[in-house]
Amino acid sequence: MTHPYSEEDAPADPCPFGGPHFAFPDDDHPGEECGVFGVVNHPEAAKLIYLGLYALQHRGQEGAGIVCGLKGKLSAHRGVGLVADVFRPHKLDRVAGDIGIGHVRYSTFGSSNLRNVQPLVVDYARGNMAVAHNGNLTNAAFLREELEQIGAIFQSTTDSEVIIHLISRSRGASFTDSVIDALRQVVGAYSVAITNGDVIVAARDPLGFRPLWLGRLNNAFIVASETCALDIIDAEWIREVEPGEVVTIDRDGLHSVRPFKPAVPKQCLFEFVYVARPDSYIFGQGVDEVRKNMGRELARQAPADADIVMAVPDSSNPAALGYAHESGLPFEVGFIRNHYVGRTFIEPEQGIRDFGVKIKLNPSRSAVAGKRIILVDDSIVRGTTAPKIIKMLRRAGARSVHFRVASPRIINSCHYGIDTPNREKLIAHKSSVEEIRKFLDVDSLEYLELSALLRATGGNPDHFCTACFTSNYPTPVPEDYETKPNNHRHVDHSTAQFER
Ligand code: AMP
Repeated sequence: MTHPYSEEDAPADPCPFGGPHFAFPDDDHPGEECGVFGVVNHPEAAKLIYLGLYALQHRGQEGAGIVCGLKGKLSAHRGVGLVADVFRPHKLDRVAGDIGIGHVRYSTFGSSNLRNVQPLVVDYARGNMAVAHNGNLTNAAFLREELEQIGAIFQSTTDSEVIIHLISRSRGASFTDSVIDALRQVVGAYSVAITNGDVIVAARDPLGFRPLWLGRLNNAFIVASETCALDIIDAEWIREVEPGEVVTIDRDGLHSVRPFKPAVPKQCLFEFVYVARPDSYIFGQGVDEVRKNMGRELARQAPADADIVMAVPDSSNPAALGYAHESGLPFEVGFIRNHYVGRTFIEPEQGIRDFGVKIKLNPSRSAVAGKRIILVDDSIVRGTTAPKIIKMLRRAGARSVHFRVASPRIINSCHYGIDTPNREKLIAHKSSVEEIRKFLDVDSLEYLELSALLRATGGNPDHFCTACFTSNYPTPVPEDYETKPNNHRHVDHSTAQFER
């Protein structure tokens, strides 16, 4: 297999110390929180994909790529950085065809590492193919080792490349058969869009960890991680790809098969808690409504004597609103967020305490001074963001702070594509609620109970993965998973969260 496709003009390392992309001097990463988008049968496929990726930017800020096919021949452009920076107009013009897929990759480590930016695209014996993958395969390291033993040469360190090797080795009668062959061998989470320039094969793993949608725009068919990406191009929502479903999309329509053993779905709760955009529908529910339900549940479970309810913007806004509605307390916009932080801001050499937080958020003194505050955040991961924000509130004159977390304690790492650090770095893995309360220096601290979160989803409680909250992993995970470098991920959320 070769990589004949030009990938150029990756912007310089986006930001040396924080900001909209937080670049860290670390090594490579497996595929993680990502967004995928695909178009079949539209003369301006590349432009639609560009817009779709723009809407999915929240799912990945490290890199973006688009691959299009014209008469079975693929052309690609990929780069490091945000969609708008990677695709200047003249770059987009070079990606030609009426079929194509795109991908945004999460901003974690190795930001300048172009070789991990997707879609991965290769030439192989039967033509060419490109893969856009959201999720994380738990047996990727094992499969990669096996493939390398028999001579496979890997071009990236993403787990997604394993899928390419497996497809290329398959003797399936059709492209779809080869994709199914490959997917039968992987374990873990995948929502994928895979193209050979003639068709797109869209699939969700049998447990359906990550979302994937089908849409329609006149005669074109669309695949997208979330509905917000269908809305931006005025596409009609058809339906979600179901867990375990493989859909082949060509110029004539959709052909669906269910080649895997049926399983009880285990969709990712954290998509509802943090990842998905509130204006999207995933797993059959509106994300905004689920988050408001989480806030309502939290208000019933953990009331407090307070004057106002505030969110840590923006990801916690709906949950804080839900809390306010249920408690009858006023919702205040107590933090003002600077939306215009670009790449070029300059930090004074002497260093300002908690600069990474301050550059994005500032409390509004008139809103918070003298107030007893209920502060709602969607989650605590490492516990690096919350203490800084609470300190800012106290300095702005808050009388008391009751911290309410709209998800349960995160006690274990996600192995299915949410970027969580090694469990040793999760504050709730090693500390009790009371210890965390003291550490955060808040008057009270409560986490949403798991049963309440499951209720808030409005779905079947058995159909969700709860592994990060309970350690019940729905697939086998290798024992050394936490320590193997290729499976190990961690990001300092104290800075990274401000993408939202
Ligand atoms: P931490 O500071 O590590 O406790 O992270 C918690 C904060 O980061 C919360 O305000 C969340 O909104 C946000 N957050 C949660 N999960 C993630 C994630 N996977 N990536 C980036 N930010 C996150």
